[in-house]
Order: sequence, then C-alpha cells, then structure tokens
Amino acid sequence: MSVLKFIQKLLKIKRFRITDFSFKNWGKELWLDVKPYKNGRCCPYCNRRGKIIRTAEKARIWLDVPVCGIQVFLVYHPREIRCKSHGRVQEIIPWASAYSRVTHRFEYLLLTYCSIMTQKAAAKLLRISTSTLSDLLHRTITRFRQRHKIRTLTHIGIDEISYCKGRKYATIVYDLKHSRVVWIGKGKGRKTIDRFFEKELSNYQRQQIIAASCDMAQTYIDAIEHWCPNATLVLDRFHIVKALNNAVDEVRKEQWRQASKEEKVALKGLRWLLYMHSSKRTKEDVKRLKALYMNGNRRIHRAWVLSDEFEQFWEFDNQVEAKDFLDNWYKTANRSRLEPIKNFVKLIKKHEDRLLPFVDTRLTNAIAEGLNRIIKIAKNRASGFRTLEAFSDIIFLMVGDLNIPAQIPACFRTI
Ligand SMILES: [Zn+2]
Repeated sequence: MSVLKFIQKLLKIKRFRITDFSFKNWGKELWLDVKPYKNGRCCPYCNRRGKIIRTAEKARIWLDVPVCGIQVFLVYHPREIRCKSHGRVQEIIPWASAYSRVTHRFEYLLLTYCSIMTQKAAAKLLRISTSTLSDLLHRTITRFRQRHKIRTLTHIGIDEISYCKGRKYATIVYDLKHSRVVWIGKGKGRKTIDRFFEKELSNYQRQQIIAASCDMAQTYIDAIEHWCPNATLVLDRFHIVKALNNAVDEVRKEQWRQASKEEKVALKGLRWLLYMHSSKRTKEDVKRLKALYMNGNRRIHRAWVLSDEFEQFWEFDNQVEAKDFLDNWYKTANRSRLEPIKNFVKLIKKHEDRLLPFVDTRLTNAIAEGLNRIIKIAKNRASGFRTLEAFSDIIFLMVGDLNIPAQIPACFRTI
C-alpha cells in the first residue's frame, strides 16, 4: 500500500483522493493536496459533467476534522466548467458545500458537539476559536434553514421566552403535535406574532391549523382568532392553574399580615403546601390544612378547599357536565367572600369559551413547557446569549422542526 493510500484509508477519505501531503508549522498541521475522483467537473445545478474551461490559479483551503491534535487542511484548485444548460459555472466540490471554508465532516462534528456541550468546549475540541465556531455554526444552520419550509402544522402553541439575562423577549411558536419549535421571532406582542402568520404560513396552511394553545394574553388570543379561522383556541392549563394558585396565595398573604405572633407559627411554610396538587400531598400535609379550620384560619381553609375542588374540572370528558361543574363552582366561590378568588372567577368567566374546549381536545402547552426545559438547559450551559441569532441557532439545532445534522450527506457523518 502506498503512503497516500494509507493516509486516505486512515482518514476515511471517500469520494475524493489525496495527491500529496506535507506537515507544516512544526508538525502541528497536516496539509493534503486533494482531487475529486472521476465524478469531478460536475455542474452544481444539474450534476452533469461539463468541459473544463479554466483551473483557478489560487488554491482554496478547507479545514477538516482534527486528528490526534493535528489540524488537517485540504488544498485544491477548483475548476471552472461549461455546462450545456447552465453555462459557465464552478464544479461541485465533493467534500464541502459551496462557499464553505470547512468540510462536510467538520460541519457534522460541529453540529453534534454544539448540541451536547458548551460552544467553548466544542471550540477547544475542534481546535478553533469560539468566535469562529459561532460564526460557522450560524452559517451552517442558516444555510439548512433557508431551504426549509414549515410543514404539516395543525396544533400550535405560542409562548414567550427571555434571553440576554432576562432583559429581552422572544416569541416562540411550537408544533404541539410533533413537539418541536417551528419559529422564533424577536420581541413579543401582536406585531411579532403577526409576522409569523403573515410571512411563514400560506393561506392554506393557516386554515389547516385546527387547535391552538396560549396563555391568557389578549394579544395572542386576538392574533389566533384573526389568522386561524378553523382553530379551536384552548387556554393553557398550566397558566390557569398558576392564576388560581396566585389567588390562593393572595388570601394567605392577607392573613399573614393580619396574624399575631402565635398565629404566624401555624401559617409558616404553608405557601408550597397550598401550591401542591392534591395527589402529591402526604397525610401529614392534609392534617395540617384541615387543622387550619380548627385554628380559626377559615379564610385560607376556604380558599384551599375551593382550589382543590377546581382540580376536578380537568378530569371531565363531557363539555355539558364540565359547564355545570363550573357554574356550581362559581356560585360557591362567589359566596366565599374572598376577593382574590372572586377576581379569578371573573377572569375564568371571561375566558370560559376558551377553557371548555380543553375537555374535548386535551390540548395543553405541556409539550411546549417540556421543550422550554431543554431550551433552558442550553441557555444555562452557555450562561446566556447576547444575540437572539445565537440563541435561536441552538434552539433550532436541539428542538427545531428540521433535523439539521441529518442534512449532511451520510458518508460524511463521522461519529
Ligand atoms: Zn448544469
């Protein structure tokens, strides 16, 4: 076996061959002169072979995957060809995409590393600087996403996330059926979400949306009702439970302020107990809550009983029964003489039409919350992102609707 063949086998080089090699920079860099196989001089548009017109005088250099700490570079003089249908074009480079400064293999490794570790760690393993890495990452992901279109979107969820140390906001649109992120837009509110419906979806696609979930923000409700005529709007369960819990907490705070020193002992640590779902409570917890009634703290007790009763709503599978339940619950709640609970009733009554469909659709933003957890992990790993572009790159890489590493040709997926 010749040395060139050996290197070619060792570096798993396919679809092109090595014609020469040299070590530079005291053995830290390996430079390989490469050449496409017979499949060379093909048109990038139609893949047909053309006649060579000119060979570039200046060599182009591509960075390849490092081997045992040695950086590998590929050197080649690309040729210009004449295609019968497309005229004068530059031939396809088999090892890299057009205009890219790195090989397919390098891109694949970059995407894989960045989805499992910090960019700083990935940059160290790939032996490039962090700024080069984020630049390459952005270019690669943008290139794949440009060709991509949103497809088969029927159940959407809308939510907000913060980035840049919580000072700036972005709006995220989820595909709740396939649990993935389809769109990220800078800012929040109506203008941002309008941009999504107007520019990303066709009229047909907007009509295909049959269910949508969001929080109680009026802007999102209006936007969904305006753009998706066929969608059933369901308010997110998570946000409603949170509003009720906040109301109960208001009652607790009120009582805390009025309580004497001895009474405060009984009220200590109640906050988390009141937040808890009934199924997660221990016997001791229930005893404590029931004791509130005896201790004279009947207002907190009443609020607790009401919020416990409301949990039943999520179990119904018939809208008529659920409606009856809600009406009864409103009556009891309004009689409770607890202002925060009464405010909650007002809120729910206003959104009742968007709450009842839950019974049939069972649609919640729970999937979106799950995705948000993954996003949060990525955010913490990078300790915040300065720009939305960098943040959305990572979101699309980890939970996007396009499997980005799978876009690299299979024979270049090195790990
Ligand atoms: Zn052509």
